[in-house]
Amino acid sequence: MMRLTRLLAPTLRDDPADAEVVSHRLLVRAGMIRQVARGIYDILPLGLRAVRRVERIVREEMDRAGAQELLMPAVIPGELWQESGRWEQYGRELLRMKDRYERDFCFGPTHEEVITDLVRREVRSYRDLPKNLYQIQVKFRDEVRPRFGLMRGREFIMKDAYSFHADAADAQREYQVMFDAYTRIFERCGLTFRAVEAGGGTIGGSQTHEFQVLAESGEDAIVSCDRCGYAANVEKAAARPLPLPDAPGGALERVATPAKRTVEEVSAFLGVPADRFVKTLIYQTSGGAAVAVLVRGDHEASGTKVQAALGGDVVRLADEETVTRITGAPVGFAGPVGLDLTILCDQSLHGIRGAVTGANRADEHLLGVEQARDFPAVRFADLRQARAGDACPRCEQGSFGEHRGIEVGQVFYLGTRYSEAMGARFLGADGRERPIEMGCYGIGVTRTVAAAIEQHHDGAGIVWPAPLAPYGALVVPVNVGDAALRETAERVAGECEAAGIDTLLDDRDERPGVKFKDADLIGLPVRVTVGPRGLQKGCVEIKRRGEQHAAEVPLAEAAARVAALVGPR
Ligand SMILES: [Zn+2]
Repeated sequence: MMRLTRLLAPTLRDDPADAEVVSHRLLVRAGMIRQVARGIYDILPLGLRAVRRVERIVREEMDRAGAQELLMPAVIPGELWQESGRWEQYGRELLRMKDRYERDFCFGPTHEEVITDLVRREVRSYRDLPKNLYQIQVKFRDEVRPRFGLMRGREFIMKDAYSFHADAADAQREYQVMFDAYTRIFERCGLTFRAVEAGGGTIGGSQTHEFQVLAESGEDAIVSCDRCGYAANVEKAAARPLPLPDAPGGALERVATPAKRTVEEVSAFLGVPADRFVKTLIYQTSGGAAVAVLVRGDHEASGTKVQAALGGDVVRLADEETVTRITGAPVGFAGPVGLDLTILCDQSLHGIRGAVTGANRADEHLLGVEQARDFPAVRFADLRQARAGDACPRCEQGSFGEHRGIEVGQVFYLGTRYSEAMGARFLGADGRERPIEMGCYGIGVTRTVAAAIEQHHDGAGIVWPAPLAPYGALVVPVNVGDAALRETAERVAGECEAAGIDTLLDDRDERPGVKFKDADLIGLPVRVTVGPRGLQKGCVEIKRRGEQHAAEVPLAEAAARVAALVGPR
């Protein structure tokens, strides 16, 4: 049992001024973290216990899936990153440094190079494959704005795993093994999450899923099917063409729309609903070429899909000057009619009539626009973001709900990107040498703790999912000056420990109000209150965090009741 008088858990009444997200605010107030420098924290004993609980679940499931734990260095020689080409590519997030001999090093944000170097030296033949190696380690990424506590720190704890295979089929098999292990990990953490199909980031890879903890504060917009569980980023989820809005055909007509630029403004001004607008966006490719992208007025264009439609070329929205040069009008008045440009058109606009669009002239729009008549020379594709209510492209029966998500894990099929660059080859059964197939699999451990709080809290503090709580139960004698209360509380706490529940005893000489406030703030799953009225009847009060109701329980049954409420730890 741990006594609060001994524990370094400095709780605060007030919110820290710099905390923008709930988990940051509550971790600081509950005395679980303290900032050392921007994005760099001390993790105090209570916070560390939550971190360790995530780590334990991760270890157990990784080991069970056949992976082996090792530990790589945090400080990595620059040559390895130069070899993979990432020394130049990675940008300023990579913390670069020199040792006393002026040699380049970096503090590892991820370890593909180090592990590939190890494997190329130690693995020779197909008989040495497959291997799945992981570590749980402190990493550093020099974020520009590290302002969300453990959600997006510069220094963080991560589990990173890398697998090595003789062929792509075996790498795919392992991908599924890791996918299943991750599903078990986040289920065991007591979190609501989705495995989301996602595009490759800077690590580079063709097949990948992100594991997203659902929370309103999440940075990622995702859709998921209410029937089959398919989930994807709104940028990536396939969106079906929608039925055309009911509108009469007619002649093209030019109208004045003075200073009305956005769909909302023009829609209100003309009294035409947004789904009858053709929104025109000008993008630029990496080579500087411009393309027009058309989506319905009530839809958002997906940069990811535009990029895919252009064969993977990186695109960005053109700046104001470019838009004016190309369309002849300021931003807000672009339209496809008469536009001499490559035009990509979202499939939901196919055959639209009676539509409204910009006239490529300042303060003017066109009415009565007909796609087939007025801008026939376009390429149709799925270019819009998916949204709530869209039909699921996978099972074709369910429909999408929209969520915000916090990415806590990712599984990647890497192929041979690193093994080719770094010469990690093996001798196959046929005697031929070839590059090793790879996968990589990350979990943000400290981020998972923060995401758990983003998903589980109330106005009074953290409401830990029991599997992640720093302790299972808190025993609170309302007055430690009363020997009977103090001794009973000690005994109950000891019995809870004996029943397998790690227990915290609030032995501080504080008013009950202060103790209860801290209990809610710290958020352990079960609170046992030892007070004079209950004790007269031989009872204590047992209350679950997040519930209003407290139950009176006879002393002799208290520990068993706590154990049943907390569950196995
Ligand atoms: Zn579905």
